This record gives sequence, C-alpha cells and structure tokens, in this order.
Amino acid sequence: MTANVHDEETTTALQVACDTAVSGCVFTMRTEENDRERLLEITRDHVAEQHGKDYTLEEIEEQHVETVDVSTDGHDH
Ligand SMILES: [Zn+2]
Repeated sequence: MTANVHDEETTTALQVACDTAVSGCVFTMRTEENDRERLLEITRDHVAEQHGKDYTLEEIEEQHVETVDVSTDGHDH
C-alpha cells in the first residue's frame, strides 16, 4: 500500500503593481520568483512606453516589487 502524502504547498510569487507608481494605472503583473528578471524588464518597458518614465531595474525591484505567498489550493487570504 502506497501512502500518497499530499502537502499543501505554498509558493512565493513576485508581484508588481504600476498603481503604486502612477495613480490610475491598473497594470499589475505576477510571476514566479525565478522569473524576476522578466518581471522587471516587462515592467520597465511598460512604464517607459505608457508613462514616458525611465526606471532602472533596481528602482523597480526596490520600490514596486512585492513578494506574495501563493497557496496552491487557490484560496485568498
Ligand atoms: Zn502603468
């Protein structure tokens, strides 16, 4: 008999919300933690194209990226 242990996994995701930088913008994006670079680049391009502002990847990371826990059972907190 095989015991199939089902752990409830919690993964960490990265989330950026343009709303924190530009009032009224609804751009948000969430990626897996190991996709940090892509998240930063897409956000930088968005801000440059939509708002005409130049942020460095470091500025975006420090000021606008949040780390969020994502439970795989799909519940919100
Ligand atoms: Zn925006």
